[in-house]
Amino acid sequence: MNDKKILVTQSSMPPYIEFIEAIKPLWDSHWLTNMGEYHQELERNLKDYLAVPHLSLVVNGHMALELTIQAMRFPEGGEVITTPFTFISTTHAIVRNRLKPVFCDVKLEDGTIDEAKIENLITEHTVAIVPVHVYGNVCNVEAIQIIANKYNLKVIYDAAHAFGITYKHNGIGNYGDASVFSFHATKVFNTVEGGAVAFSDYKLYEKLYNLKNFGIRGEELVTEIGANAKMNELCAIMGLCNLKNIEKNFAERKVRYEYYVEQLREIRGISLFESNPHTRWNYAYLPILINDDYAMSRDELYEYLKDNNVFSRKYFYPLTSDQACFKNKYREIELDHSRWLSDRILVLPLYGELEWDAIKKIIYLIKKV
Ligand SMILES: *Cc1c(COP(=O)(O)O)cnc(C)c1O
Repeated sequence: MNDKKILVTQSSMPPYIEFIEAIKPLWDSHWLTNMGEYHQELERNLKDYLAVPHLSLVVNGHMALELTIQAMRFPEGGEVITTPFTFISTTHAIVRNRLKPVFCDVKLEDGTIDEAKIENLITEHTVAIVPVHVYGNVCNVEAIQIIANKYNLKVIYDAAHAFGITYKHNGIGNYGDASVFSFHATKVFNTVEGGAVAFSDYKLYEKLYNLKNFGIRGEELVTEIGANAKMNELCAIMGLCNLKNIEKNFAERKVRYEYYVEQLREIRGISLFESNPHTRWNYAYLPILINDDYAMSRDELYEYLKDNNVFSRKYFYPLTSDQACFKNKYREIELDHSRWLSDRILVLPLYGELEWDAIKKIIYLIKKV
């Protein structure tokens, strides 16, 4: 049996030679950052690939989200309806903008925000909704937009997990006022570190440009108090190389995912999220639920796999609202479904180059219990 450490993911990398060839021109140009040629090329290519009207590249997914919220210029103390069943970055981006997160419960079927519970949380202070396409499970984008229109709220999707997904043949970045992607090394598409914002209103491009480049608009002109959140040329080249191989990456994940699911479905007490029939999915993650009729609790299974060199992850436990920095600070709202999922979720190893031996070992371990 496979005795190597099996991690939850492994960063996809282009063939070594491909990358080395691609970065060679930098030794002539000596142009390493500041919206260089490769930054521009990746921005164009991603805009086409994601089929969105506009796109802005950013140094990472978190800054993309934080600066997008900042660019909307909400009044301080405004309330943002979001979910706690996500990576901590989503909540941090709201709070770091001096806004208040209002945690809405999620749906058990797919872990996305429960659109039926949003309206009850809206007050005169509500300024935006920040839903998360968690694991690439697409939120109910139509219902959310109807609510946003009715109350004149902005919608900013945390689409960090949703790279390459289409919904009803539409790029996922076309919904809401903006969608934020992460290209972190652990994500399905990576630029080592990186991120992007997709949006329809071109004015946001200018605002983000200022925020990510110190507000510099000319050699002697600074018009805004911006930060520094530019993607550098080496990362952009990594992205260009990985983008060339993205369909292969999806395909390799898909066969592995489907094999896993076929095997896991037979196991009593293990269940999976419902897949959305209108979606072309990206197979970024393999989240499973360890129900009460399984032979072990989620935590026990996690430890047992770890003892056997299989490193699964409890994404997302604890809820962000329960983290030390946020606990008891915001409006108390019933989060029964979020808690239920968070206590039972386990993400199993999945990536394009994951060895079949490793998958068989993981399934064997889960079945044996
Ligand atoms: C990864 C991730 C982010 C942050 O992206 P980085 O590129 O790591 O900064 C934000 N939200 C979610 C849901 C994520 O998984």
